[in-house]
Amino acid sequence: MRERLPRKEKFSEWYNELLLRTEIVDVRYPSKGLCVWYPFGFSLRRRIYSILRSLLDVDHQEVLFPLLIPENEFMKESEHIKGFEEEVYWVTKGGSTPLEMPLALRPTSETAIYPMLQLWIRSHVDLPLKIYQIVNTFRYETKHTRPLIRVREITSFKEAHTAHATWAEAEEQVKAALKLYSEFFRRLAIPHVITKRPDWDKFPGADYSMAVDTLMPDGKTLQIGTVHHLGTNFAETFDVRYEDPEGEQRYVNQTCYGISERCVAAVIAVHGDDRGLVLPPEIAPTQIIIIPIVSKGKDALGACKRILDMLKDVYRVVLDNSQERPGAKYYKWEMKGVPLRVEIGPRDMERGEVTLVRRDTFERETVAISKLNDAIEDKLGAIHANLYERARQSFDSRIVDCKTLDEAKTAIRKGMAKISWCGEEECGLCMEDRTGGDILGELAKTKRGECPICGKKTDKVVLMARAY
Ligand SMILES: [Zn+2]
Repeated sequence: MRERLPRKEKFSEWYNELLLRTEIVDVRYPSKGLCVWYPFGFSLRRRIYSILRSLLDVDHQEVLFPLLIPENEFMKESEHIKGFEEEVYWVTKGGSTPLEMPLALRPTSETAIYPMLQLWIRSHVDLPLKIYQIVNTFRYETKHTRPLIRVREITSFKEAHTAHATWAEAEEQVKAALKLYSEFFRRLAIPHVITKRPDWDKFPGADYSMAVDTLMPDGKTLQIGTVHHLGTNFAETFDVRYEDPEGEQRYVNQTCYGISERCVAAVIAVHGDDRGLVLPPEIAPTQIIIIPIVSKGKDALGACKRILDMLKDVYRVVLDNSQERPGAKYYKWEMKGVPLRVEIGPRDMERGEVTLVRRDTFERETVAISKLNDAIEDKLGAIHANLYERARQSFDSRIVDCKTLDEAKTAIRKGMAKISWCGEEECGLCMEDRTGGDILGELAKTKRGECPICGKKTDKVVLMARAY
């Protein structure tokens, strides 16, 4: 008897069990907060990040900076260090010899990259400069860790860093980065919302921070991307200057923006169901599984092999000709999230047909082999569209317009509350206190209303939620 997955309603149990059973990551590594990627998980991760890379490669250049950051560089930006000091791992010895200069394991790479930008950027013709790297970063998390969501080693942190002549040009880059992120999450069929983080929650050392959030099945939000306008704060600290066309020395304006493996967690959590993973076809390690059906002692293995040959140049397709019963095979491949199943039995063969079964809806359809290629292309497209639509409806239905804090408190049990806020930190913190939720940030779209604390008229609208 195969043990069933916990139901998705019990999200935490379902998520942990699914990661292990489908072999995404193994949390049994003997150190808290560190995970091992299995081959299957790594393949999924690689496909997701290759989309991100392809979007960035249009106008960014990929680089690779050292993992270790000298203490004196790391300590230069005071706001930045205040934000990270409790989370940093330090390397203090080489063998048994104390290091003259302790080295930080990067929690993020501003202080590794910007001393080099000081050397790379000389003149306005060097701008704009747009680079990125995909690396591991380390943060000493003391809260409860959770695989891919709250970890001590972020294994796949995509961090982009840009430098521009003016504040306005850097602001344009913030918008461009958010547009790029929206496209990325559209390709993953992940609905999301963009807000401007409140001042007390911005990136340490930034002028302001924008964030991309999605909703998890348990009603908590997951921050899946951030974009920061750094102004000249870091440039002044690290003396990153350029000579403008008039020969004046000026500080560059900078941005940085990151995405971590939380994007993989979002794909798993948003689309998965009681039977396991449900993957958008573009990122599924296996897109099509072929299952031979035995009937009256006859099988259709020869036909299955012909279909495999027909499809394998275009799709990632596997023929499961193991000795297991078809039911066991369905169960296994459904759990792995394979978008499309092709069943072929002896009777189908006589008719020149196969049966297609969708993972997202379990709809079955008989298709003539002569039309199989077109049918598969249509189905894979329809699966992506359906996953996105289904996720978006669930997402939209859980964002509730609220006037009072009581309404907001109820709304954030299942999702997000949209509510007016005067913009004062004191009122904001009070709103968080009285609802038990966080102010995620301010929406770009404004609406006339009243602050629920001080009663002041305001156009600002914020989203509140319980956040991971
Ligand atoms: Zn107020």
